[in-house]
Amino acid sequence: MRLSRSLIPTLKENPAEAVIASHRLMLRAGLVRQTASGIYAWLPAGWLVLQNIARIVREEQIAIGSQDMLMPTIQSADLWRQSGRYDAYGPEMLRIKDRGDRDMLYGPTNEEMVTELFRQSVKSYRELPQILFHIQWKFRDELRPRFGVMRGREFLMKDGYSFDLDYEGAVITYRKIMLSYMRTFQRLGVKAIPMVADTGPIGGDLSHEFIILAPTGESQVFFDAAYETMDFSEGKYDHNDPADLARFFGDVTNSYAATDEKHDAGVWANVAEKREGRGIEVGHIFYFGTKYSEPMGLSLAGRDGTPVVPHGGSYGIGVSRLVGAIIEAHHDEAGIIWPDSVAPFPAVILNLKAGDAGCDALCEEAYAAFRGRALLDDREDRAGVKFADADLMGHPWQIVVGPRGAAKGMVELKRRATGEKVEVSLADALAKINQA
Ligand code: ATP
Ligand code: MG
Repeated sequence: MRLSRSLIPTLKENPAEAVIASHRLMLRAGLVRQTASGIYAWLPAGWLVLQNIARIVREEQIAIGSQDMLMPTIQSADLWRQSGRYDAYGPEMLRIKDRGDRDMLYGPTNEEMVTELFRQSVKSYRELPQILFHIQWKFRDELRPRFGVMRGREFLMKDGYSFDLDYEGAVITYRKIMLSYMRTFQRLGVKAIPMVADTGPIGGDLSHEFIILAPTGESQVFFDAAYETMDFSEGKYDHNDPADLARFFGDVTNSYAATDEKHDAGVWANVAEKREGRGIEVGHIFYFGTKYSEPMGLSLAGRDGTPVVPHGGSYGIGVSRLVGAIIEAHHDEAGIIWPDSVAPFPAVILNLKAGDAGCDALCEEAYAAFRGRALLDDREDRAGVKFADADLMGHPWQIVVGPRGAAKGMVELKRRATGEKVEVSLADALAKINQA
């Protein structure tokens, strides 16, 4: 994109309404604009980031055999009456009437709908297990929308749902999804720690929240330093082997980690290397047994002909919240520092002397090499303004083109994360960026 003709409205001043770094930086870098309380428009650069995160989330779900689909945002209240949640859900649910006076709602989550879709078409135990997911907008009329996209009313979620024949199968699925989450967060450049969460009337220990550390997080967290060095990259654990999944689950849950609600001072006292901080919940997974299949009449023909009621779980990742959470974890005084995996543009090209034939030509050559994916700062502004905006927007690489270098075909390549600068030919700069 050419910055001179882009809807990337950067701001020099800190907006008064933003109290945390990510909210401030998302507004200042021109990623989003609020259109109503807790509801945001994703401007071109913000939308690129959101799609990059969604792509990584999607790839890791598909890698474990979860099926990508899309369910509607608007749902019929009747579905929710079947599970008993229509009355139970409370004021967070946005209730709507259609012209025929039928009760509708903007979905806060999709357990009922996916259970109904499954009930209509799946008849035999042979078709299980299955995992389905979609990446879709949710609406929850939060009491206090705040911190920008962190706690919005409309937000993008990856929500997944599983169906297994029995508890044993559901445990394997749960662990498989947990592994996919650890891989996802690692690829997104954030350290997420799974912490046991409330299971309510279901009981057991199959509910975890995934917390990433940031000083502005909503909850206090306590954890073992062991989490700082864990590695979940592809190849470390085999998600198709239940024994390996058990090994993974042990590795990732045996060290101490808890939110303040679950904190146990006695156990904590024995943790050798203690770490403490504030945390942001970016994901939540939950085994709920037959909570929905039972009341909604989901029953399959079992192996010996007797009916079986599938065991389910649901699995969320806050895709839009992650944009804020990643910024909380990756910024400095000057602005955002995007991890390569989610950056809106791999690089910005700074033309320090727009109008100079040599600078213009080298910039156009660099820009063409990215086939529209880089950002070209072709504005007729002072160099200082361009440098400040490049740091603010957080592009992983800056290709700086000035008249003296351009005459020799040379550019200055700056890495945003380290501040390191080298003078190289354009070809070498492009090669280096492609390797990262
Ligand atoms: P919270 O305790 O933060 O309200 P929740 O328990 O209501 O979260 P879930 O229903 O488990 O959240 O939703 C899955 C994920 O969706 C959460 O882990 C979070 O990352 C994200 N999420 C939930 N509510 C919001 C919101 N209002 N704005 C942005 N993301 C949200
Ligand atoms: Mg909530």
